[in-house]
Amino acid sequence: MRALVTGGAGFLGSHLCEKLLGKGWEVVCMDNLITGDLKNIEHLVGVDGFTFVKVDVTDFIHVAGDVHRVFHFASPASPIDYLKMPIQTLKVGSLGTHKALGLARAKGARFLMASTSEVYGDPHEHPQRETYWGNVNPVGPRGVYDEAKRFSEAMVMAYHRFHGLETRIVRIFNTYGPRMRLNDGRALPAFMSQALRGDDITVFGDGSQTRSFCFVDDLIEGIWRLSDSDEVEPTNIGNPHEMTIKEFAETVVRLTGSQSKITYHPLPTDDPKQRRPDISKAKRVLGWEPKVPLEEGLRVTLEYFKKTVAV
Ligand code: UDP
Repeated sequence: MRALVTGGAGFLGSHLCEKLLGKGWEVVCMDNLITGDLKNIEHLVGVDGFTFVKVDVTDFIHVAGDVHRVFHFASPASPIDYLKMPIQTLKVGSLGTHKALGLARAKGARFLMASTSEVYGDPHEHPQRETYWGNVNPVGPRGVYDEAKRFSEAMVMAYHRFHGLETRIVRIFNTYGPRMRLNDGRALPAFMSQALRGDDITVFGDGSQTRSFCFVDDLIEGIWRLSDSDEVEPTNIGNPHEMTIKEFAETVVRLTGSQSKITYHPLPTDDPKQRRPDISKAKRVLGWEPKVPLEEGLRVTLEYFKKTVAV
């Protein structure tokens, strides 16, 4: 069996490539490296069945030979990346999704779309079930990501309904683990690098906004199970353990044994006030739920960041 992973050199994409290789699949890893990094896959280069191609998925894409599954993970994925690359973010979620779907159709492959909890925007329903339609500001700075992913979901369902393509949609909630980019601006890499360097911890707003953080291994297992299942409708995968960002910052400071002080800064525009996945569907349909407790996952991630900060 052979899979194409777009965004395969990114944080989640590289873990997914690893998972597939572990299952005995051949993997074509495609990335334009604007936020992905060859370091994330250097240990896979030379592994039997693994190929890397540097391609922008918003251009015409071609893969020779059979492809049985397409995993579309290419996209900038952190708020500062959308601000720096708003057009690329919109393009990869629209043109890129279209190209990846077209390739899946030509190959008769099953297609899995990496969607996001951001489709729920700043949610009025809590926790978020898949049936919630969301509260997204289309013209705000995060709109480029949120609307591109919403468009992707619509496009995926159109290919499913109109062309009969086998499709799956995962709505990914906040995830952390080794290979997150140190400077991607997200809470975990920011807090860990600040704590390790003894710098002030930059909490945005008063830190009362909530998130629910899932360890990457749990997330990838859920995605694998979804891709193997018959579930066509969007499925939340994430960890329902919700906490405030202030609590999260305090946990990181405690685990690193850092002397860093928590400082407060303006909240970014449209920053969601609360977020927690309802995972009853993933439990029911996939028999999946996260297993790694936060502190255990954070310790593994901390070892990674210690090496990265030291470089
Ligand atoms: N955040 C923060 N300090 C930082 C980076 C992020 O307080 O240095 C906050 C951010 O405003 C948000 C939460 O942490 O409320 C999670 O942010 P992240 O960018 O990790 O993910 P997302 O907002 O996409 O869930």
